[in-house]
Amino acid sequence: MDPEPSEAGIVLSWGCLTDRGLRRERNEDSFLAADPLFAVADGMGGHEAGETASGICVRTLAKVDLQPDAGRAAAASDLQEALEQADGLIRQATGSRAGTTVSGVALVAEQGHPYWLVFNIGDSRTYALRAGEFSQLTVDHSEVQELVDGGQLTAAAAAIHPRRHVLTRALGAGERASADFQLIPAHAGDRILVCSDGLSGELAAADLQQILARVTDPQEAAEALVRAALHAGGSDNVTAVVVDAGTGPRAAEPAPVRISSADET
Ligand code: MN
Repeated sequence: MDPEPSEAGIVLSWGCLTDRGLRRERNEDSFLAADPLFAVADGMGGHEAGETASGICVRTLAKVDLQPDAGRAAAASDLQEALEQADGLIRQATGSRAGTTVSGVALVAEQGHPYWLVFNIGDSRTYALRAGEFSQLTVDHSEVQELVDGGQLTAAAAAIHPRRHVLTRALGAGERASADFQLIPAHAGDRILVCSDGLSGELAAADLQQILARVTDPQEAAEALVRAALHAGGSDNVTAVVVDAGTGPRAAEPAPVRISSADET
């Protein structure tokens, strides 16, 4: 394993939690925490196919060996390649009966400077809390997002629209989809949230921001977010991964990779 997984003086710490929620029989969400790569996948499709899809997605991403000095272009192409591979594996494993969203972030270096490489397919999201500003970094691939972009729907109306769960891109289902990538400078003090729609659909952005600003420890923050989503109704599976960029001593041992997926095949 890479002894220096984080980039250019930034040291990451993180917390993660997933919960079945209060209404669903299964948890079809999966997550990955493999410094410097973090991701959440939200599977869909009945009879265990959803968790198979999201599980394949995060386990395929876990095999990506991000090279510290390879730069963002190489990192993005490694990630896209892994996502294409996951797409094929999901189609094989589920007979195209299932798909998954995925969103996440990797800390990469470009000419010695640290950046967040953010990616998404579907409506799992990545947010950032930076210098007190909270922003959604990813743009959903969904029907209602297209209506919002076209000025036909407000964001508030989109949040409660009956077709808000209809995706225009997913992995393992429909047409082959590529991820959107974004690169933003990373600074010590940045806090990144990667989540499934069971979190972002249950809580307003202001609630997410308030919890992220209040709870210092990243694991406690992930737990507080999930708890708040359950309190708000927990109508879907809920997953939160909170990643903090700090400085300070690097851990002597790389942290173990954490993968949560209900499906272990
Ligand atoms: Mn969901």
